[in-house]
Formats: sequence, structure tokens, C-alpha cells
Amino acid sequence: MSADDSHDSLHGLATHAPALAGWLDTHAETLDTDATLSADVVPRLAGAGLLRVGVPVELGGAGGSIVDAIDTVADVAEHSFAAAFVLWGQRTFIEYLLQSPNRRLRDRHLPALLCGELAGATGLSNAMKYLSAIEPLQIRATNVVTDDGARAWRVNGGLPWITNLRKQGFVAAAAVDHEAGGPPSIFAIAHHAPGVTRSDDLDLIGLRGTNTAALQMADTPLTDDDRVTDDAPAWLVRVRPAFLGLQCGMSLGLARRSLAGTRDGGPGARAAVADEVAALTEQLDTLTARLKAGVLQGEFVDTPASLFKLRIALAELVHDAASLEVQTGGGRGYLRGLSGIARRQREAAFVPIVTPSLVQLKNQLAAQRAQQLRTETAQ
Ligand SMILES: Cc1cc2nc3c(=O)[nH]c(=O)nc-3n(C[C@H](O)[C@H](O)[C@H](O)COP(=O)(O)OP(=O)(O)OC[C@H]3O[C@@H](n4cnc5c(N)ncnc54)[C@H](O)[C@@H]3O)c2cc1C
Repeated sequence: MSADDSHDSLHGLATHAPALAGWLDTHAETLDTDATLSADVVPRLAGAGLLRVGVPVELGGAGGSIVDAIDTVADVAEHSFAAAFVLWGQRTFIEYLLQSPNRRLRDRHLPALLCGELAGATGLSNAMKYLSAIEPLQIRATNVVTDDGARAWRVNGGLPWITNLRKQGFVAAAAVDHEAGGPPSIFAIAHHAPGVTRSDDLDLIGLRGTNTAALQMADTPLTDDDRVTDDAPAWLVRVRPAFLGLQCGMSLGLARRSLAGTRDGGPGARAAVADEVAALTEQLDTLTARLKAGVLQGEFVDTPASLFKLRIALAELVHDAASLEVQTGGGRGYLRGLSGIARRQREAAFVPIVTPSLVQLKNQLAAQRAQQLRTETAQ
């Protein structure tokens, strides 16, 4: 472990799950740069009880709310962004089941997801981009006639990017267009379903321990038992605050870690950036409070624009904090194995591109403003 990675100002995970915190600190570099530990992440997160946070007790969870789950993602991101991204995928998938009207699907998968035996992956970037009219859905379902008249489909298509496709077993959420018409559905597709192929891990510049690969479906049979929702657009609007809130948790943790890292610089370096660090810390506190309140009160379901603005502000804050850490770290940050500074630069580079990407959100906000202007002018 590098001196940098056992920062004494960090408290969350080091207090609540010290064994996991230590494991992540020791292996953060490996989790980012290769896949040797990729099978261990989900079981380790489960072992620390993190997958049950915010899940009702009667469903096998630890209770609490989605905001507590956001905190766990942030806490893990302070130590390893790759592990936090895996946690995001797993916990978001769990949230899909909690918010699905399909009780049988939930009861079938939830126990194995909560104890970390099964990995949950969310392949809904395509669906989010579809909602914003950026691209068509990439998976199509054809109706199949069954003897007992039950609804069934064969699906074909693929997802180019999907994280937490753990080779030992996964279930992935994907949005599917129906050839017969009607609103798209979201299905939970199991790794062993006929016609499902996982590619080799993608050749990423970082986050290589996250089981990120492409997924292909060829004539994969699915039934109503596999369906998360039969109305993807309406359901996604309701789930989006949790999806994005958990995703923003990664930014909260990374920004916190970089700001804490600026204190490792010498007194001169610390003094030079003290005002900027204080301003960013205050901004981070404000954004954290706003995010949690908005998600908890359900405010972002009807006003997604305020959540989009928060996501953009947090991404910018991550960038600024990571840059300050580089400045205070000096040459030490440019040497291998002495700090996590270079790794956090790579981690920070991912924040603007994960869907919904910053450019996508900026365009959406601009379109909303233009629409508002047109409405005001017409009145
Ligand atoms: C390491 C890694 C892990 C990932 N894991 C997952 C995962 O688990 N699940 C998942 O679903 N996805 C995942 N993704 C995909 C990710 O969320 C983004 O969707 C993807 O990186 C962006 O797609 P693209 O590069 O094909 O964008 P492109 O379609 O090539 O577009 C480039 C950029 O422009 C934006 N853009 C394109 N058209 C418009 C437009 N008309 N208006 C505004 N903006 C536009 C896009 O949002 C994107 O930011 C992952 C990506 C990476 C790099």
C-alpha cells in the first residue's frame, strides 16, 4: 500500500468496513490496471454488507434508504473507483428489482445478488440515450407463440459496453424494442440463457478489474418472468434518480479523496491551494446535501433538469479536485507506486463519459431552455 492510500482523514469505510477498506487500498492499482482480482470484488463488497444497504429488511436487506446506498458508493470510491463502479452496477441492478412490478423476478434473483453469488449488470446506457433520442434501441424482440398462450419472445442484438459481467455468473438489464410495436421492455438476461455471449474484457485504459465487456444475444428465449417492466420509458423516468444518484456517489467519493490528497503536499503547496480546496470542499458539501435531499424526496422524478445540473457540477468538481491533487503532489505523483494520484486522473477521466454523458446532458438542458423560450415567446 502506498502512503497516499491510507489517508487518515478518510473515515467512512475505514470505520464501518475496515477489512474491505484495507483490501481496496492494497489493491486499488491492480483493480484499475488489470483483471486478476475482477472475480473478488462483488464477494468482497457483499462480505462487508454493502449490497444490502438501502434494501428493505423484509427482503433480506439491512434497511435504510437509497441515500445510504449512495453513501456506500461514495465511501468505496474514496478507496477504489473501479470497485465503486462495480458496486454501482450491482446496487443499481438490485434497485431495478426493488422497483420492478415483477415480484417473481425479484424473488428469484435478489437473494443471490445480495450475498454476492450473482453479479448484476446494468446495460441501460443505450436506453438512456434512446430516451434522449440519441440512438435507437439495439436489441429487438420477436413474439413467439407458445402452447399455453403465455407471452414469450426471442431477442437479438447486443450492448457494446457493460460492466460487472462477472465470468462466474451475471444477470444483465437491457432495454428491448418489440417488433410487434408498443413500448419497449426491460429484461433481465441471465448469463446462461441460450444465445447469450459475453465478449472478452474490453481493452480499457483503466477500470480493468470491472468485468467490462460486450454482450450479444442471438435468438435468446425470454418470457414474462424475465421482464423488469413492460413500459421502459415510463419506468426509467421513475428509476433515473436512483440510477443517477448512485452514479453521482462515485463522483462524491472521488472528489472527496482528491481533496483529502491535497493535504499530503508540503506546507507551501498546501498554502498555495488552501483557498481553492476550501471553496471546492464547501461546494462538495452543498452538492452532496442537494443530491441526497432531491433523491430522497423524489424531487428529481418531475424535475430531472436539476439532477442533470448536479451531475454536471459534480463532474466538474471531480476534475478540479483531481487537478489540485496533481499540483500539490508534485513529482511524487508522476512516479509509479508512490501515490494514487495518476490513477485518480484516469478515474476522473471516466466521470464525464459515463451515460448520461456531460455533452448529452448539456444538450438536453440547452434543448429544454430553447423550448421554454419558445413557449414564453408564444405567450
Ligand atoms: C469503462 C466503461 C464502462 C461502461 N459500462 C457501462 C455499463 O455498465 N452499462 C452501460 O449501459 N454502459 C456502459 N458504458 C457506456 C457508457 O456509459 C457510455 O454510454 C459510452 O461510453 C458512450 O457511448 P459512445 O462512446 O458509444 O458514445 P457515442 O455515441 O460515440 O457519442 C459520443 C459522446 O457524445 C454524446 N452524444 C452522442 N450523440 C449526441 C447527441 N445527439 N446529443 C448529445 N450528446 C450526444 C454521447 O453521450 C457520448 O458522450 C461504459 C463505458 C465505459 C468506457
